[in-house]
Amino acid sequence: MVEECVFCKIRKGEIPSTTLYKDDEFMIIKDINPQAKVHLIAIPTDHVPYIDMMTQEGTALLGKIMGKISHMQEELGITEGYRLLINQGENAGQTVNHLHIHILGGEKLKDF
Ligand code: AMP
Ligand code: ZN
Repeated sequence: MVEECVFCKIRKGEIPSTTLYKDDEFMIIKDINPQAKVHLIAIPTDHVPYIDMMTQEGTALLGKIMGKISHMQEELGITEGYRLLINQGENAGQTVNHLHIHILGGEKLKDF
């Protein structure tokens, strides 16, 4: 099935993005509407809408992405600390139904 979501289009290069990292499994881009000095999103290649639809393999990939982020702090500009965030569903305010991890940092973040 051909997916038409915004992140799938970014992946295919049909919508421009500032890409900081890309491999076969995921990419890291700048969020278009930053909520912190550094606001990036890590997007797995496969279109899975929600974290609660993740397979075991997909969950393992999320762990791998988090590990990668921790090794890329310098190039991502988050060496002083960062927050990883996944929105699931309406109450969390998920707007793009293609599972992604927000990476927030570059400054002292507000407490929850
Ligand atoms: P969420 O609310 O968790 O679904 O997050 C979706 C995020 O995607 C929001 O922070 C948006 O600002 C971001 N976003 C939407 N469209 C684009 C785009 N074309 N390029 C980069 N970020 C985007
Ligand atoms: Zn998608």
